[in-house]
Amino acid sequence: MKVDLIHYTPLEIAVEAIRTCHDTLDKSDNLGEKDKELIRKIVSMGHLSTLEHLTYTFRIQGISRVCSHQLVRHRIASYSQQSHRYTSPKDFVIPPKIASRVNVDDYTRENLYHYVWDFYEALIDAGIPREDARYFLPQAVTTSLIMTINARSLRNFFQLRLDKKAQWEIRLLAENMYLKLPLDHRLTVFYDIDLQGE
Ligand SMILES: Cc1cc2nc3c(=O)[nH]c(=O)nc-3n(C[C@H](O)[C@H](O)[C@H](O)COP(=O)(O)OP(=O)(O)OC[C@H]3O[C@@H](n4cnc5c(N)ncnc54)[C@H](O)[C@@H]3O)c2cc1C
Repeated sequence: MKVDLIHYTPLEIAVEAIRTCHDTLDKSDNLGEKDKELIRKIVSMGHLSTLEHLTYTFRIQGISRVCSHQLVRHRIASYSQQSHRYTSPKDFVIPPKIASRVNVDDYTRENLYHYVWDFYEALIDAGIPREDARYFLPQAVTTSLIMTINARSLRNFFQLRLDKKAQWEIRLLAENMYLKLPLDHRLTVFYDIDLQGE
């Protein structure tokens, strides 16, 4: 998978929101230690609506439809996903526990291509529209999407999907998204997020 953070709101906007509530705009130190500590304080207090002014836009490529289905269950976010009505997927995600079973040839990527891909292509060659041929694609096929999510919702996403109970692929996605965040955001808005999901 490939994850890029293509846009985000600077932390100053959260400081402005918090300091407007407290009428302390004049006490800002222009994102110095005082402002950063203030953000950590509102996180620990749970005054999280002030973080909704921060949004992050991710470009996510090469995740399976299994993973994207889990991802879009996070309703407090916006998504634009590659359409398999109009485009063909290019690859499969093979779970490591299957890929490592080298003796089980039936599960190798090449054979998946043979069994599934050839049939899908044959349907399209026979004039079946992509939107109908896709019914025979496995959930392993890859997809791409753009996701925009605010900081409050992203905290909820990390809490659920960095956890050890989350499945490996969405957990890997959450890790990649976390690591793409600017350091000053990680150290303030997300200071208490545990990458190890302990
Ligand atoms: C380990 C794990 C296993 C899961 N297994 C299953 C499963 O077997 N079957 C399944 O269907 N799903 C499953 N899910 C998905 C899960 O139920 C959620 O749909 C998903 O994690 C999105 O979380 P969310 O609702 O908190 O996020 P969002 O949809 O982004 O919502 C964010 C927050 O907004 C609030 N909110 C949003 N909508 C409402 C609403 N309608 N009413 C009240 N409050 C709302 C809630 O506080 C919510 O936490 C699983 C998730 C995890 C992490």
